[in-house]
Amino acid sequence: MAMVETARGPVDTESLGTTLMHEHVFVLNEEIRVNYPAGWDEDDRVDDAILKLNALAKRGCQTIADPTVIGLGRDIGRIIRVADGTSLNIIVATGLYTYDDVPFYFRYRGPRSGGLDPMAQLFIDDLTAGIAGTQVKAAFLKCAIDEPGMTPGVERVLRAVCQAHAETGAPVTVHTHPGSCTGRAVLEVLRAENADLSKVVLGHSGDSTDLDYLSELADAGCLLGMDRFGLDLITSFEDRVATVAAMCERGYADRMVLSHDAACHIDWFPAEVIPRFAPAWHFEHLFDDVLPALRERGVTEPQIQTMLVDNPRRYFSGN
Ligand SMILES: [Zn+2]
Repeated sequence: MAMVETARGPVDTESLGTTLMHEHVFVLNEEIRVNYPAGWDEDDRVDDAILKLNALAKRGCQTIADPTVIGLGRDIGRIIRVADGTSLNIIVATGLYTYDDVPFYFRYRGPRSGGLDPMAQLFIDDLTAGIAGTQVKAAFLKCAIDEPGMTPGVERVLRAVCQAHAETGAPVTVHTHPGSCTGRAVLEVLRAENADLSKVVLGHSGDSTDLDYLSELADAGCLLGMDRFGLDLITSFEDRVATVAAMCERGYADRMVLSHDAACHIDWFPAEVIPRFAPAWHFEHLFDDVLPALRERGVTEPQIQTMLVDNPRRYFSGN
């Protein structure tokens, strides 16, 4: 029986069910929140998150993978409180989110030549011992590359993620910027580090409509994160749906996962602007709009099951 760690402890991967592979409970600038707490009520926010996740569970979703790591305001105590209020499984991550430099904390704690990056050791501890003194273990690794490309900081984090992946077998999710085809640069490092590409989600691939680029990454063995449904400002709803349908037609249903990259609460934007610039950017958009549209375009129930259930289960099932 393959088990996966969640915020409520280990569960059988067979019971993960419908899984959204990239959703955040909270995305916060923690240092800002601590110093400028106006507008933040901890209990209200936890209650609100529970409400939203329970509403998602009612739609038939049983699990979310939450890639909130250092740089995005991870606070495991807050996640445990939320997890206690919902039946939904919350799978938590370790890693580091940056588009350019590493945080100053790591600048003078560098890897000795050829050795394990101290950053990787922290990731390994989160995966094997528990996060911040709790019993909750991370079950996947997360890092990012964006428009600036493979900067020295981004490469250091990716290589540290690969070290932790090699040590523990934990799967990996990389935030990519398909507009500049950064998936290729990621692939190059993953291959150099001998990563198991079947355990890698190239996140935000669904921002792209370039079927050849997507096929190339899928042919390499990676999973494509078609995971920003609702962020229609970047790529339209029609294009996102048409791309998934076309990739299914090309035979890649077993290489895609679906999600929104939404959050119960994100402090990057004033709360009132989100409904204006992204009215469909919420956890239920997939069930309300995306799945019906995919069915209309000929995507079959077995293909939907593959993307929502089988691929996530395989990703979290070890080797
Ligand atoms: Zn995200």
